[in-house]
Amino acid sequence: MSQKVRVRFAPSPTGGLHLGGVRTVLFNYLFAKKHSGDFIVRIEDTDQSRFVVGAETYIFDCLKWCGLTPDESVVHGGPYTPYRQSERKVIYRQYAEQLVKNGHAYYAFDTPAELEKMRELLKTKGSSSLQYDHHVRMSMNNSLRLLAEETQHLLDAGTPYVIRIKILPNDFIPFKDLIRGDINFDTNTVDDKVLLKADGMPTYHLAVVVDDFLMKITHAFRGEEWLPSAPVHILLWKHLFGLDVMPQWAHLPLILKPDGNGKLSKRDGDRLGFPVYAMDWSDPGTNEITKGFKEIGFLPEAFINLLAVLGWNDGTEQEIFSMEELIEKFNIEKVHKGGAKFDFEKAKWFNHEWIKKLAVAHYYQRVKNIFESNGIDITDENYLKKVMELVKERCTLLPDFYTQGSFFFRAPVSIDIAAIQPKWDDKKNLFFIELLKTWELSTLWDATDLEVSFREIAAANQLKTGELMLPLRIMLVGGKFGPGVFEIAGTIGKEATITRIEHTLSLIE
Ligand code: GLU
Repeated sequence: MSQKVRVRFAPSPTGGLHLGGVRTVLFNYLFAKKHSGDFIVRIEDTDQSRFVVGAETYIFDCLKWCGLTPDESVVHGGPYTPYRQSERKVIYRQYAEQLVKNGHAYYAFDTPAELEKMRELLKTKGSSSLQYDHHVRMSMNNSLRLLAEETQHLLDAGTPYVIRIKILPNDFIPFKDLIRGDINFDTNTVDDKVLLKADGMPTYHLAVVVDDFLMKITHAFRGEEWLPSAPVHILLWKHLFGLDVMPQWAHLPLILKPDGNGKLSKRDGDRLGFPVYAMDWSDPGTNEITKGFKEIGFLPEAFINLLAVLGWNDGTEQEIFSMEELIEKFNIEKVHKGGAKFDFEKAKWFNHEWIKKLAVAHYYQRVKNIFESNGIDITDENYLKKVMELVKERCTLLPDFYTQGSFFFRAPVSIDIAAIQPKWDDKKNLFFIELLKTWELSTLWDATDLEVSFREIAAANQLKTGELMLPLRIMLVGGKFGPGVFEIAGTIGKEATITRIEHTLSLIE
């Protein structure tokens, strides 16, 4: 690529960041990094009615958590400031006016009531489309139908107006999508979209094209839901800047509901009990909190990995990829055309794999916070790290470290006596009494020595160790779970081991 690659993520700050949005960022980011290019974040906030307080900060927090650092943005600065469209308002008008002057756009003075009347009329006529397009525009209140003097008079009088693109009917707009290949848009299905609103703000369509041009964007990858807007954007590129400088486009496949029936929405997550947002999102209007992947205990490495393979693979069986590997292997042309079904169980599998793969020090702080929020003060960092090593195989989400490991810090709250009682007898009772005596006198306290003495006493009493290990586990842990039982005894220490065995013996009848 001769020109420096420049990609952008252009979110509208309207709420929580859907995992599909993060995947869009990821694919842009991977492509940029692979080609030593720049990744730009531009805030598209021209629709003031949809603006939500806190959404912009939240987007940057999510990107930070995911390790997707922009090269240029509102936060990171850059040569094309401002990166927030509302602050670029003065830039856009001249382009809209230029389009009017060249006959590709026009002033429309229609009031909301007139527009409503137009739709009503189309409905009564049984028209399949209620759009403002070549069928109706010559009967509307716009500069195409009015005489030049009439238009000028309305403008001079300060009559509110919008500027609309003039779409010519019966034409085809050819376009090459890096994922979908050649596409031909039929202009008969495209309406005369508003480019500049009555308040002087551009609409998304005008602003996205102008800014992609001014910010020298070379590649634009965005969700499939924007495909219907592409013909308008292509025409704007053609009329304003020329198709030779237009970015290359790719429309990413949708992320589908687990059953494959339509796009995955926040509501599906609420209904099926899994997050859809990257991080917790607190709606400032309702104060309702929607859970995020981070807060339920995902590692960012796992989140990135699972998003990368939603619609892409490198053509091999490999599933676990680090960011570095993704940068090396990612190829936009290998992204699938069809939607990718989201499977939460598979998502958790990725997290489990990353928990095992990474050094515990990497996520120690988060696990420590989970213990502390459950009332266990961590005073010995190495002890918690040792516990984490012992239980990490059993953890899928970070809070599992607490459920799998709290007994290393305090005696279990309840003991599953029912699991010991039915097979309990005097011989077992005597075994544990003898074991207590031996262990009380023991000067060495590590897993191997404890196992040796345990087996010796069992053999001397002609008991099978297999039948004794489960009761011992339940005494120490409270239930049938946890890592190796001698590792547990070795780690919690002599005093805790003896106290817990004595306590359970006192409960057994
Ligand atoms: N502002 C659009 C959005 O909210 C950006 C779409 C695009 O990338 O062109 O997703």
